Order: sequence, then C-alpha cells, then structure tokens
Amino acid sequence: MEMRALVLEDYGTPPRVEVVECGPPGPGEVLVRIVASGVCHSDLHVVTGTLPLPVPIVLGHEASGVVVETGPGTRLQAGDHVVVTWIPACGACFWCRNGQPELCERANAGAVSGTRADGTSPLTWRGRPLFPFSWAGTLAEYAVVPEAAAIPVPAEMPWDAAALLGCAVQTGVGAAWRAPIQPGDTVLVVGLGGVGQNIVQGARLKGAGRIIAVDPVAAKRELARTLGATDVVDPEAADPLAAVLDLTDDRGVDVAFEAVGRADLLALAFNAARRGGTAVAVGVPAPNEDITLNAFAFPSQEKTLTGTWLGGSYPPRDIPRLVALWEAGHLQLEPLVSRRYVLEEAPAAFADLEAGRIVRGVVHCGDPR
Ligand SMILES: [Zn+2]
Ligand SMILES: [Zn+2]
Repeated sequence: MEMRALVLEDYGTPPRVEVVECGPPGPGEVLVRIVASGVCHSDLHVVTGTLPLPVPIVLGHEASGVVVETGPGTRLQAGDHVVVTWIPACGACFWCRNGQPELCERANAGAVSGTRADGTSPLTWRGRPLFPFSWAGTLAEYAVVPEAAAIPVPAEMPWDAAALLGCAVQTGVGAAWRAPIQPGDTVLVVGLGGVGQNIVQGARLKGAGRIIAVDPVAAKRELARTLGATDVVDPEAADPLAAVLDLTDDRGVDVAFEAVGRADLLALAFNAARRGGTAVAVGVPAPNEDITLNAFAFPSQEKTLTGTWLGGSYPPRDIPRLVALWEAGHLQLEPLVSRRYVLEEAPAAFADLEAGRIVRGVVHCGDPR
C-alpha cells in the first residue's frame, strides 16, 4: 500500500515527506499504524551523515501506534496499542542467551543494514529498496516491524507519552538503573536532551542524593530541575569540571553519565568521576570517533569507564516497568514533549532539535485532514 513517510535520500540533504510503498508484514512481523513518533538525536546523526546508515532511509525509531495487521506466527492482535522500539532481540544468539539482549547479534545487524535477515526491506521508493531506521522507520503513517519491536501498552496511555518509551526513556532510565548508583550517591549528567533528562529521572528513582545536570540551554536545565536535578551547571558560564569539583569538595561524583555522544564530553564525565567512581557513555558518538584519557587514572584512581546501549534495556521486560512507574506518578513523560508536529512538519522538528530548541519533538503521523 502507499503511505507517506519521512525519507532521507542522502546524507546532508533535508529529509522530505514522500509517498512510498509499504509491503505486508512477513512471518514474525506486524504492521503498525503509527500515531506519534519521537525525533531522536540518532535520527539527526543519520541526516548529517555522522551515523552512516544505508540510504534512502525512513527515519524514526520510537513511536506509539496500533497494530493493524499481523504476519504469520505472531501473538499480537489487530487493535493492540503498542510502543515501537528498536533492537528487537532474537532470543537465540550468544548475547540473548547471555542475558544481554540489547547486544543481540541479529537485531544489531539489522539496525546497521536496515534489512531483514534475508536482506529484504518491507519498503520501496521509486522502485528501489527503502530502509527503515533500525527496523523501525516510525516517521511514517505505517511501519512493518518485528513483533519483538512492538510492545503492548495500556490503551488508555496517551500517545505522546507512550512514544517516548521507544528510545529516550528506555535509554536514559535504563542507563541509570544499570549503573552502580547507591542511595545517597552524587551523580553527574552531561547533556539534557531526551536521554539526559531520563538519566536524571532514573538517578532519582535509584535514590541518588545529588544530581548535577549540565547543559548550555537554560530551558533544559530548568526541566532537569523539575525531574530531579539538585544542581545545574551552564558549561558556557563556567568550566564544568571545575564546577562539579566545586560542588563535591573536590572529590568528583560517584557516577557520571555522558548523554550527548561527544568524545570531549565523555572525557569530561570520566574526569569528573571520583576516585573509584564510574563514568558511563550513553550518547552515541560517530562510529570513527576516538577518545584520549589519562591512562594512569585507571589503576591509580580505580576508575571505571563503561557504556550502555539502549540503556541495557530489554523492551518486553522494561517497557511494562516504565509504564508502571508512569502510572504510579514516579516517572514523568508528558513534560519531556517540547513541541508537537504533523508529519509534513517533521523537517522542522529536525531543525528545532539541531538548534537545541526542544528536548523531544513528537510528530503525529496520521492523516492531518
Ligand atoms: Zn534514539
Ligand atoms: Zn539475539
């Protein structure tokens, strides 16, 4: 069937809404009518070519919607409300069996190739294959996704709130959950986009005593305060490392997170961690980016530098937990939505994200008429 989708034809060109062809769901897949889709920095990184996924590509990888058709061998049913996410774990590879489904071999290979295991794509455009971002491609009226990427949520959940569970909330809250934060600890979060704000929430849920949040945008610092940050730092007004040391008796923080995907900011997080502390890379840097750190700090200061992919989340397990926290009022989702767009306005959402004007833009993908 024909549908509208936000297509990036090539890196460095503006994404455009195009009419594309969407095939039926295959075995183990479902067709989801997308209601709301978030716009993530990783989508922007593909537009700029920093994250060189295959093009032409349909952007978007966190959404909410309704299952409208199911392929053979699926348990979901038409009418189910779902969150569409990425990294649909296969359940059978070494990493899935090892309890690390976010590192699933098949799902991550699919995220890079944009194709099913057999090399095909459900999408075509102008007679050639069109690749859905990370097997999702949610900035579109419909998406064909593996059933493991469509997680049921309560029908009464608002679409915008549900959409953000697909990437930003899982990644941010998950990163905090899996980090060695003890009750009362001091935590640093560098970068307050959709992921960073959720690290703040996750750290608060984990019982952090102090949460220091760093971002040059005042509105993002203020939002972080409402989500649990106890101290905020404007890195353009003061040296952020000096500011963090100042706030921690020159000791540094117990756990530091980098949520932008920049090597210099990851070095900042590492340097701001105390002796015996941990720095966690959460933001996604360019694949060819390297980092320089003082080697002596590893043995002499017993520092740990680690990373987390999708917050170490396993969507079938973690999305219901996040919904439960939201239902209980412990997790804020609605305040994360800075602005709403219809699909035709999706390019503006990218411009707003790039300019730092929004935390999360949510695109309503249905027919605006
Ligand atoms: Zn994302
Ligand atoms: Zn697997």
